[in-house]
Amino acid sequence: MELLRPSSADEATAALGNGSVALAGGTELVPLLRDGLVTADKLVHIGAAVPRGIDGTTIGAGTTLAELEADPQIPQALREACSLAASPQLRSMGTVGGNLLQATRCWYWRLGFDCWLHGGERCLAKAGAHREHAIFGNELCASAHPSDVGAALLALGASVRTTQRELPVGDLYRLPTADDRSTTTLAPDELILELDVPVPEASTYLKAMDRRKWAFPIVGVAAVRGNGGIRIALAGVAPIPWTLDGTAALDDATPLPGTAYKVEIARALVRRAVEGIADAAR
Ligand SMILES: Cc1cc2nc3c(=O)[nH]c(=O)nc-3n(C[C@H](O)[C@H](O)[C@H](O)COP(=O)(O)OP(=O)(O)OC[C@H]3O[C@@H](n4cnc5c(N)ncnc54)[C@H](O)[C@@H]3O)c2cc1C
Ligand code: SF4
Repeated sequence: MELLRPSSADEATAALGNGSVALAGGTELVPLLRDGLVTADKLVHIGAAVPRGIDGTTIGAGTTLAELEADPQIPQALREACSLAASPQLRSMGTVGGNLLQATRCWYWRLGFDCWLHGGERCLAKAGAHREHAIFGNELCASAHPSDVGAALLALGASVRTTQRELPVGDLYRLPTADDRSTTTLAPDELILELDVPVPEASTYLKAMDRRKWAFPIVGVAAVRGNGGIRIALAGVAPIPWTLDGTAALDDATPLPGTAYKVEIARALVRRAVEGIADAAR
């Protein structure tokens, strides 16, 4: 396998596609390569091709979660989402761009079973073990998106600048369909360059985990106050980061037998998060 180190986004883009894959911190990609879930002839290290750092409301895609959680310019929901993600070692390597593009943690998928998302006939989790799985958007694939950061950015109304376009962060994602089973809308040769994160009046991120630290979200709730309203987004509840149109929308959840408990956790966390930002600033 060849490792390329392009010095600009244009060079990196030209090198991507056709069996080449972008490598940032490698905390997600390297295990996927090791386990044969991603194959690549060339790795394109984007450290020098993608901006890194924070400038007002602009965040370079190469900024690490550790840098985000420590910066007072960053809205509280995003800082909290970063600080509750993974471990300190992973946060010091893992970038925000890579976090948004992480694959599902569904064990059927990670262990290479021939499930629907891998191109098979059916979702094995629905009939099997699915305690960590989805309560929304789970008709074809019941995986739960693991990105705390994605939910925080969604609630904050962040937008993304790529090498091809500008789009709301929610438009980076799509529910997989029978004719296209991918969960993102990014082209193979498209790079996330920067994020723009508007400053809210107040925001918070709460997370239920199996352990108190260093675990993926069972349910993550981001709540943001601004522009006369409150926006809520959830992690760990659907194959993609999920916008919740108010607490009542939890009544429309479609849990599996083993995920019904997540609806109640989400209800409690949403209530707590909304109460928490009622008077708080940022
Ligand atoms: C044990 C463990 C626990 C974790 N726990 C949590 C958790 O609780 N919550 C949470 O939110 N996350 C968690 N994570 C995920 C972690 O935050 C991500 O692995 C990390 O942020 C990925 O960033 P990276 O730079 O290492 O990405 P890489 O591994 O380098 O890349 C990941 C993917 O993104 C693509 N990519 C990276 N950057 C770009 C870009 N700028 N443009 C286009 N494509 C790009 C790569 O091609 C690859 O497909 C955990 C990870 C591990 C391994
Ligand atoms: S939840 Fe998705 S990834 Fe997991 S077994 Fe079902 S189809 Fe596969």
